[in-house]
Amino acid sequence: MNRKDLLYEGKAKRLFITDDVNSLVQVFKDELTAFHGTKRGRFDGKGAICNAVSTYLFQYLETYHVATHFVKKLSDNEMQIRRLEMIPIEVVVRNVATASLAKTYDLEEGSTLKYPIIEYRLKSDRLGDPMINEHHAYAMGYATPEEMKMISRIASKVNAIMKSFFDRRGLMLVDFKLEFGKQDRNILIADEISPDTCRVWDRKTNKKMDKDRFRYDMGKVDKAYRELLGRIVSAA
Ligand code: ADP
Ligand code: UDP
Repeated sequence: MNRKDLLYEGKAKRLFITDDVNSLVQVFKDELTAFHGTKRGRFDGKGAICNAVSTYLFQYLETYHVATHFVKKLSDNEMQIRRLEMIPIEVVVRNVATASLAKTYDLEEGSTLKYPIIEYRLKSDRLGDPMINEHHAYAMGYATPEEMKMISRIASKVNAIMKSFFDRRGLMLVDFKLEFGKQDRNILIADEISPDTCRVWDRKTNKKMDKDRFRYDMGKVDKAYRELLGRIVSAA
């Protein structure tokens, strides 16, 4: 399998076509962005950390029979993935009230929710990723009722698996975002699962170990990303 032309350049990754029509190479960049690309930064090795965390978590989920686009890690910042027809919906799962959820509903910052919340956003930087529900997804033709049912089932299962995974490492999975794509009639998890797309706090100190450190200028972004990777892989 050889990497060929650039297919897509996004904010955090580049996708390349390959000589296998069913595979792409996903290259993780060192750039960090927030607030729909309006805030930008970078640090050396960030792409490699997100690739390593995603690789670890995709492989871990596969052991629980959760289908992902992961094929194999190719290098520090490259991953071979299955080429999917993407569903343009960001699926956010929340276990703990923080940020906009805490503010909108006047919940205590950091309080554990009685039940996880699944939110859907239309993936569009131009529109600011507006919140949608299942009915918007059917009405606008982004996904069928069967697909949305499958997506919500997979998101709940991934949350249960990852929550206990992080728990065993002394970490709290506050919330995270998943993207999904289709291959024939199957729905697979795509994109990445990394400190760029999850909120993870230390259980004892509540220290934030994710992209919020960059979003809110909390400092030591690279140190937190590295520590998170270390804690994920060391307790294996
Ligand atoms: P963005 O597009 O938000 O700037 P990225 O820089 O992360 O995001 O770019 C990666 C792009 O690749 C995203 O648009 C994502 O939807 C898409 N993508 C992720 N996995 C796959 C896949 N398996 N097949 C096709 N496209 C994918
Ligand atoms: N998220 C993401 N990409 C996005 C939007 C959100 O990965 O484009 C992740 C984010 O890292 C967090 C979760 O989804 O773990 C919820 O983020 P959101 O922006 O919805 O939170 P808010 O700040 O609005 O509470």
